[in-house]
Parts: sequence; C-alpha cells; structure tokens
Amino acid sequence: MLMGLAMAGAAEAQPHETDAYLDASRVQWEALAQTIWEQPELALQEKQSSAALAAALAKEGFQITWGAGGQPTAFVAVAGSGSPVIGLMAEYDALPGLSQAAGKAKREPVVADGPGHACGHNLLGTASVAAAVAANRERVARKLPGTIKLFGTPAEEVMIGKTFMIRAGAFQGVDAVLAWHPDDQNRVVNRARLAAAAVDVEFFGRSAHAASSPWLGRSALDALVLFDHGMALMREHIRPTARMHRRITGGGAAANVIPDYTKGDYWVRDVSGESVNEMIARLKKVGAGAALATETRVQFTLLFSGREVLPNDALSRVMQDQFTRIGAPAFDAADTAFARELQQELNAAPVGLAASVMPYTPGNGNTASSDIGEVAAVAPLAELGVAVRPIGTPAHHWVQTACAAHAVGHKGMLTAAKVLAATAVELLGNRAVVQAIKDEFAAKTNGRPYVSPLAPDAKPKAF
Ligand SMILES: [Zn+2]
Repeated sequence: MLMGLAMAGAAEAQPHETDAYLDASRVQWEALAQTIWEQPELALQEKQSSAALAAALAKEGFQITWGAGGQPTAFVAVAGSGSPVIGLMAEYDALPGLSQAAGKAKREPVVADGPGHACGHNLLGTASVAAAVAANRERVARKLPGTIKLFGTPAEEVMIGKTFMIRAGAFQGVDAVLAWHPDDQNRVVNRARLAAAAVDVEFFGRSAHAASSPWLGRSALDALVLFDHGMALMREHIRPTARMHRRITGGGAAANVIPDYTKGDYWVRDVSGESVNEMIARLKKVGAGAALATETRVQFTLLFSGREVLPNDALSRVMQDQFTRIGAPAFDAADTAFARELQQELNAAPVGLAASVMPYTPGNGNTASSDIGEVAAVAPLAELGVAVRPIGTPAHHWVQTACAAHAVGHKGMLTAAKVLAATAVELLGNRAVVQAIKDEFAAKTNGRPYVSPLAPDAKPKAF
C-alpha cells in the first residue's frame, strides 16, 4: 500500500518549472557557492556563510529566524503556509587543515594548515537554498498548498548543529525533510549512515620532577596510554560493523615533568545507536581500570551523540524518480581529465566521474555518520548523493576541496538543486504521497517519542 502510493506519485514524474529556473539562474548559485568556498568557516563560526545563504532566501521573500538551539549561525527560512511542510537542509561548515587550491590535482593549500571545504558543504548549502527558492517560485506560480522551510544547520562536522536545533523545537511539524550530500556517486541513499558518539577522556594525576622525585608523581599520561591500549584490545571484541578512532589532544607539557593532566577524544560508530551506547559504556570501564591501575582520576564528557539514519522508502522513491528523470550531472571531457588526474594522484583507479544514476537498491551510500540521523528520528527524511568528485575519492580530503570550486562541483550542485526542488514540488502537490511517507515514518518509529542525546545542561560547543 505504502509502496503503491509512492510509485503512483512517482510514475507521473514530469519536468518541473524548477529545472528551467535553476538552469537560468545557474551563474548566481555558482557565485554563492564560490563566495562560501573562499571564506571557509569552521563549526559554529560560519557567520559569513550563513549570512550569504540567508540573504539569498530573504531576497525571495523567505522569513528568516536566527539562533535556533543557542547557535548564532543557525537559521530557519520559511515561505508559504499550512500543510504539507517540506524541509530542506543547508550545511556550510568547513574542515580544519584541508585548504586546497581550486582545480589543482596536486596538494597545494591556499592557506597553509587553513580550513577548507573538504566535505563540499559550500555546494551542499547552496544547492539546498537554490532548491528552496526554485520550489517556492513554482509553489507561488501554481498556487500550490503548503510551506517550504529551509533549515540552516551549522556545525555538522562536529555532529551537533541539528541536535541542538531539534531540542529547541525547530523541526516540529515538518512532514518531510529532503537532505543531500556531495558524493562520488549519483544515488538516493538507503543504507543507514552509522550512529556515532564521541567522548572527551581526561585523566588527572599528580605532577613531580621526572628525575629527582618521580615516586611522588602519578602520571596522567600513563593512564591515558593504558586507556588507549585497553581501547585497542577492545577492537577485537566489537562487531565487524563498528568503528573506533581517536586523537590525543593533551599529552603533558614537558617530558621531564610527570604530567598531571592528559586528554584525548574517542569516537565510536556502529549501525545502531544502542551498540554505540554499549561501546561507550565499555570504554568507561576501561577508563576506570586505567585510573585504578595508575592511581589517577578519570573524567568522561560526551562531545556528541547521533543515531543512525532511518531511511523512508516512500520519500526516497519520489526523490529517486526525479533523479532518474533529471539524470546525472553532465560532465565534459575536461572534467573527466581533471578527475583522472586526481585519481592518479591518490592511487585510485582512473575511471573518471560517475555518469549515471544508480537504481534504488539496498546498500546505496557509505558509512560516514551525520547529524541528519537525529533529524530522521523526528521527521521522515530522504537523502540524495550527487557526484561532485571522482569515483573512489573520499570526502574530508583536499580532493573534495579542489572539486568544490570547480566545474565538477558546480555541475553536481546544479543537479542536486534540481532533484531537491522537483521532489519538494512533487510533495507540495500530492497529499496522498505525503500521507504515505508519514504513515511509513509512524510505522517505523512505532510512536516512540524522540529523546535527545544531549545532557539537559549541554550547550553548543565545537571541539
Ligand atoms: Zn559533510
């Protein structure tokens, strides 16, 4: 029944006015993406990026509200009224240390150690805003019912932006949310992204002179090393789907001083939030053991927690049919040549760029985590992946920074905007499909209320 309705709506997939509008306004969106790329801003510092995106929406009559969840760079832009309420999401934070010259196939930072759009969020934010504008124009022109809400969501790279917005009620009453992410393939994602959580682990010891009175000290570094070893041993006894990674952020001030303080951040991921929580609980035992053995004290602080993404098939199929109709980005020979250069530089197979749209089959997508998992727990969500970098090359890499200000990125961005806009218009014009999407969500969540993973007193903070 659910499937039947969704298929029926999708089977009518027709060209939308949004396609032509986005083709005609392409240069404007490329300029906006370029502006954001040129001033990469880290999580919760995205002042100029969020302002540029919000300005483009305000110009089109969207009402903007700032600061959801205590985050000055979060905003919600609203056009229209009543139901259905269709949400789109913009992200716009950059990553540290991944500055890279546009269109260069060799490592060449613009600013040494500077931030860069290595996850392509300049494209992500711009395509979502362009889609919201395009869909809203068609809503007005055809007098379609409903509301378009563009969520400006900061701090995705530290997995907190949307979680704080949800706690503040920003996503209440949304009927369907359309997400997208830069990718090396063209696909509607239906493989759940991994749930993830991270903790700060701090050890407190007793300082002493490392040569003249070491017996007076208790080393916080010994404790951290022991903890890290315990985590490494734990890897043998976790599910094959789980991931653990970490960095040491404080290892002591000088080798000839017994460190009384050390710190690391530890990330765990798996296919379910339950498994992640269980691993965090086990890590806490490892920490207690390390503290006991070294006569130090341990303290854990949760940095973030985000659950796996719950896919919505009814919504995903509407998106898939629009994507199939619109087709893959139209890359040319120069784009392919650049892609092959990058692939050679990374020792990846020189197979160029994804040229077709994958069919809707299980397993589309990768295992990266995102705070869209929290959104998918409060509203039906579908996620689109569009090729904006060469096949087999990763995000969180300078290759993506290079492509995010190049024709490869711009063409993928335009395709993403078209698919998102057409999907949004489909939903505004088809109450039966929206109801099927909501029914599927209700069945999958089984009426469970959303419980925020945030501590009651948690405040948004990058790390
Ligand atoms: Zn990203």
